[in-house]
Amino acid sequence: MTTTDAAAVAALKQDNAQYLWHPMAHPQAMLKSKPDIIARGQGCWIWDVDGHKMLDGVGGLWAANLGHSNKPVRDAIVAQLDELPFYNVFRGTTHPRAIELSARLVKTMEPDGVAAVFFSNGGSDAVEGALKLARQYWKLKGQADRFKFIALRQGYHGVHFGGMSVNGNLNFRRAYEPLLPGCFHVDTPWLYRNPYTQDPEELGEICATQLEREIQFQGPDTVAAFIAEPIQGAGGVIVPPPNYWPRVREICDKYGVLLIADEVVTGFGRGGAMFGTRLWNVKADLWCLAKGISSGYVPLGATAIGNKVAEVFLNDASGQAAVGHGYTYSAHPVAAAAALATLDQIEALDVPGNAARVGAHFQARVRPFVDKFSFVGDVRGMGLMLGIEMVADKATRTTLPRGNPIAAKVAQAAYQRGLMVRISGPNLILSPPLVITREEVDFMVDALEGAFADVEATL
Ligand code: PMP
Repeated sequence: MTTTDAAAVAALKQDNAQYLWHPMAHPQAMLKSKPDIIARGQGCWIWDVDGHKMLDGVGGLWAANLGHSNKPVRDAIVAQLDELPFYNVFRGTTHPRAIELSARLVKTMEPDGVAAVFFSNGGSDAVEGALKLARQYWKLKGQADRFKFIALRQGYHGVHFGGMSVNGNLNFRRAYEPLLPGCFHVDTPWLYRNPYTQDPEELGEICATQLEREIQFQGPDTVAAFIAEPIQGAGGVIVPPPNYWPRVREICDKYGVLLIADEVVTGFGRGGAMFGTRLWNVKADLWCLAKGISSGYVPLGATAIGNKVAEVFLNDASGQAAVGHGYTYSAHPVAAAAALATLDQIEALDVPGNAARVGAHFQARVRPFVDKFSFVGDVRGMGLMLGIEMVADKATRTTLPRGNPIAAKVAQAAYQRGLMVRISGPNLILSPPLVITREEVDFMVDALEGAFADVEATL
């Protein structure tokens, strides 16, 4: 579509407002606000239907890690469509791409202690699979009372009933209560906002101890698992202190609680290591994977199963270890083909290494925004994930009230300067493709700095 198709563009905008209910949006909002209709992508760049070119600071939605036009992934998808567009992997059948991808993923994650994978269609599915396998694990071990989950207050684990029940954000739960029984929350080690300390090490210890006290309070023999993101994404890109995850692992081991790492965002390189847990030198028991697994080209989710959990299923003598869970499209051949090609590209292009190197430059350039702009309270992140928290009052760290126009103004100013960003509450979140170059990062930061300056000038 080109800018000359003005009538077609107008019709698209009208139909979007009238017929399409968007995730996480008020149906009325689309009637009032102008949505960006993204029509085309090339590398790290996107064009909307009006022909406006932008650097994709959102990476699709933390997903298009290889950019928007990776040819080997595209070719693998097309070849798979020609060979076998669909078959299922329910008991009795399977197909080559599913098998190849499972072997490839397990080999990739062997150092992490992974034994097998279970496929699904996205991040929420991957979380649901992990929660269900955790409960089944304890039933198989004869400890059916271990059904509770503990999670973090700023965590995001998708939108299914299980994931929503362990989510930390009220906005994603409130309209759908009552939730899954047996889900409890402890404080996130969030240096910028916590009532305890400004010392990272001390905070890591305090928050880990909170988890231990919650396990004790619930009764260790009732807790199935603790679930958390290695770096919290949607909650505002909250990077835990380095001692936090190792202490969490120790505590989970002490009480026999399973550790579920939700790597939907951090998996496949975003934080500068292939997996977020590797950033903290920790092995989980179950991992939730999606997004970057197929670079977002085709929906795919996976729950990776650690040795300890797998053994219990494989050694089961009770006959209760059948996995009563799964989807028509689990290990969809086209998604599996996309993922295999994506994994090849991640290795060939050293995607995690690029995220670490270019990401360090990115973080260093944006961090000074805290001193430059009156409404920037905190800049935090790791690798190619970065959050800028905007505040109403910097001295008191008073959060921007809901509906405050500043965040939307920054996003609009960034758009004008050719940069797509994402606003989540008071946070501006950046998660560009992981193949981004240093020059493109400089473009992104210059556009962002200009956008903040534009808004600052209006205050
Ligand atoms: N877990 C995490 C950590 C996520 O960030 C997300 C989505 N952003 C999900 C789960 C849910 O994934 P999906 O939207 O693919 O269902």
